[in-house]
Amino acid sequence: MESRNYICNYCRKVYIPKRRGVQKFCSNSCRVGSHNLEKKKSKTGLVPAPQTVKSENTKIEKMSLAGVGNATFGTFAAELVKSIFAKEENKPATKGDLKLISSKLERFQIIKNMNPNFNGQKAYYDNQQKIIVYI
Ligand SMILES: [Zn+2]
Repeated sequence: MESRNYICNYCRKVYIPKRRGVQKFCSNSCRVGSHNLEKKKSKTGLVPAPQTVKSENTKIEKMSLAGVGNATFGTFAAELVKSIFAKEENKPATKGDLKLISSKLERFQIIKNMNPNFNGQKAYYDNQQKIIVYI
């Protein structure tokens, strides 16, 4: 009986074949893998190496484009932050603000049977001035 081990034609692993002299691969998946590789080779006539180079170039291009995009976005974001902080109403709420809000809540009572005005502001009854206001 033949005693030498076989080397898989696909993964190069040393294996003991079930049927001597017939098998070229250690497993079915290697046989299929090798078959697919052969198909690929015959299709393109080339090993996939040049593709790798191409994709690396694309990656670099994408990276530099992203860099430009980030710089533009950075400027835009800074402008946006400036404009947000320039608006009084968008400033983060302080304890004073919260006090003001709660005092407003006591002073103004929402009127449920009145529709909001064209600005979307709701109708409130001002307990101090005794009038209806839109806030
Ligand atoms: Zn194998």
